[in-house]
Amino acid sequence: MNPLTFQYEALPARVVFGAGTLSRLPEEAARLQLRRVLILSTAGHRANADRVGALLGPLAAEVFAGAVMHTPGQVTEVALALASRLQIDGLIAIGGGSAIGLSKALALRTDLPQIVIPTTYAGSEATPVLGETVEGVKRTQRSPRILPETILYDVELTVGLPVHVSMASGLNAMAHAAEALYAADCNPLTSLMAEAALVALIDALPRIQSRPDDLDARKTALYGAWLCGCCLGAVGMGLHHKLCHTLGGTFGLPHAETHAILLPHALAYNLPFAPEAHRILALAFHHADPAVALEQFSRRLGLPRALSELGMPEAAIDHAADLAVRNPYPNPRPLEREALRGLLARAWAGDPPLTEPQE
Ligand code: NAD
Repeated sequence: MNPLTFQYEALPARVVFGAGTLSRLPEEAARLQLRRVLILSTAGHRANADRVGALLGPLAAEVFAGAVMHTPGQVTEVALALASRLQIDGLIAIGGGSAIGLSKALALRTDLPQIVIPTTYAGSEATPVLGETVEGVKRTQRSPRILPETILYDVELTVGLPVHVSMASGLNAMAHAAEALYAADCNPLTSLMAEAALVALIDALPRIQSRPDDLDARKTALYGAWLCGCCLGAVGMGLHHKLCHTLGGTFGLPHAETHAILLPHALAYNLPFAPEAHRILALAFHHADPAVALEQFSRRLGLPRALSELGMPEAAIDHAADLAVRNPYPNPRPLEREALRGLLARAWAGDPPLTEPQE
């Protein structure tokens, strides 16, 4: 049990969760008194954005299907100009963290209200955090303006999420919960959410892998992903997220897969210094070494194991290790460049995580 000394700040967002809830979108838009909205998505998700447009009728000013991963500044500028030309009074994003990231970038600059409809397990919808990439550097900021007013979860929209994307996205979500367990500002509520989230995703992901249209498994996974997003929004993340952020922004690696590969390694590095997180993760995985359990889980789900598979050049390992120690941040284990270089080299090659006993 953590010592009962903590701070906790609830985030003011409305959550609507269920199957078939997309039909409630007009009601939710009316609740926010929206009259003219811009609908945002990635190019690949345009059909669903058009569906949202049809559902909203005259409320829909236009669909902008240009969102891309890591929220590059140029895309935000184009969407911002469109939003201003159309004189909208609200934003609706449908899709994963890329569409939601664009919505947040626009809300930060305009303070427009947002309704977000997540279709992956990334968890961005539940956070007041925005990562933006400008000239190859990804920077994160936090503001109450960034937090979406309403999250509409419709499990049916996640049924078509391809299995390999579902698995990687699920691991991305689990990373939020795992790091919340040893966050410097962790509190009893986020630890409860993290534990429940891990149990939900450990149960749901293998079921989705064998039956992608299993609505019950999809519901459990999306519920777990929501809890993971709440953890991510409420407490500070450590080594794992910083590494993923650096690799994503600097080397353009895909977000969810990078999380899936690095998480067992980051846990192996940190857990000897985080006994309470170790205890909860060991319970969730029914395994004494959660880093090993996670690596086996990820392998069974067919996820990539090596950063080299994602196209990261071997020569980038040293640069990544330098970046990882450049701006210190709270982490259970001190950031040691050589140890981190070793971690990155193992993750690059696809070697198993190395759990070192605490000195
Ligand atoms: P994504 O949004 O890029 O989605 C991955 C791909 O899946 C896209 O091509 C998308 O069109 C497609 N897709 C999404 N839902 C689908 C569905 N139901 N069916 C079929 N295809 C679907 O990826 P992501 O992993 O969800 O998000 C990654 C981005 O989110 C990164 O930029 C990351 O930095 C950001 N993120 C931010 C936060 C935060 O709190 N700020 C949290 C998590 C992720």
